[in-house]
Amino acid sequence: MLTIDLSAIQSNWLKLQSIGAGAGVAGVIKANAYGLGADQVGNALYAVGCREFFFASIDEALAARAFLSSDAIIYVLGGIRAGDERLLMESNLTPVLCSLSAINSWAEANAVLGCNASAAIKINTGMTRFGLDLREFESLCGNQNLLHAVNPVLLMSHLACADERGHPLNSQQQHSFANCTKLIGSLLPNLRFSLANSSGIFLGAPWHFDLLRPGAALYGVNPVQNDSNPMLPVLRLSLPIMQVRKLDATAAIGYGSSTTLPDGARIAVVAGGYADGLHRTLGLQPEGYLNGKLVRSVGRMSMDSTMFDISSLDLPSEQLLGLEIDVINPLLSLEYLSKKNASLGYEILTSLGAGRYPREYLAGSHNG
Ligand SMILES: *Cc1c(COP(=O)(O)O)cnc(C)c1O
Repeated sequence: MLTIDLSAIQSNWLKLQSIGAGAGVAGVIKANAYGLGADQVGNALYAVGCREFFFASIDEALAARAFLSSDAIIYVLGGIRAGDERLLMESNLTPVLCSLSAINSWAEANAVLGCNASAAIKINTGMTRFGLDLREFESLCGNQNLLHAVNPVLLMSHLACADERGHPLNSQQQHSFANCTKLIGSLLPNLRFSLANSSGIFLGAPWHFDLLRPGAALYGVNPVQNDSNPMLPVLRLSLPIMQVRKLDATAAIGYGSSTTLPDGARIAVVAGGYADGLHRTLGLQPEGYLNGKLVRSVGRMSMDSTMFDISSLDLPSEQLLGLEIDVINPLLSLEYLSKKNASLGYEILTSLGAGRYPREYLAGSHNG
């Protein structure tokens, strides 16, 4: 069972809102809300006041139009292809324009269709992924007709190293972005500005501008490396025990006979394996909690199942069947798991999306 606590996600959003002290707070719910369910998460965030949502692709954003309230502002982050303009305009989606050619196409589509559809513009201040380079941005600012034809409502950039508080690029990007806001702000006085992702919010007020764009922190990933996690945990993943066996002789366990356990050992076989993304989620040797006791997996993880050595438990086998082994919970946190497995909280979350787990959403307790 994958249990997703929507009220914890709401509390996390409200916490970021209070840290933002007046800045707007969007919800980044791309990649199906990092695997947790864009529909459920998006609507829970909407219920506490979130009105702006970021998606990666047009397909994700179009799907969201069906489940998000019609007054939700939906941004598409991942760049758009020439020819997508009409679809975006018809569906009231706001593209994040990342190149001069995309900006020109948007202006042209507005003219051809007689629209005044708005867009966000992204600039590259040091991450070198999506966005206009500074020289391109300056040339755009020198072309007032183009600028007005695009109808920009948001200027944004993205931080490359926000999770490393002391990294010099954080200040460089902030300065560079602040200069751009001054340049374009004199031309478009109503334009809003956005720089900070989850970790960027914790760098301080100079990084906040008008709109915060948290994703990971909403889902319980620690935004402040090497500090205690200010966010509430959101997830519990527990795997049901499908078979319990007691060895009556020393035996090799699983594919490749990589491990043996002695006579008398007990094994629980749980549903969930690498086809569920568990190797990315939990590492190749998962740990779990069963009835409050730490247990370790044994042998190689299979495609659909994983075995745990439960010799230390004294419950009778009949009682164990039907129980579940917790593999993500507040003790086995995203932070603990990502450190143990040299992965990222982001990767753990998005890998959960592949899992065939039944899902349970704990209803949001906040209703706006
Ligand atoms: C994914 C993404 C975010 C959210 O980042 P987190 O680190 O998950 O908070 C914000 N802005 C952009 C442009 C993104 O691509």
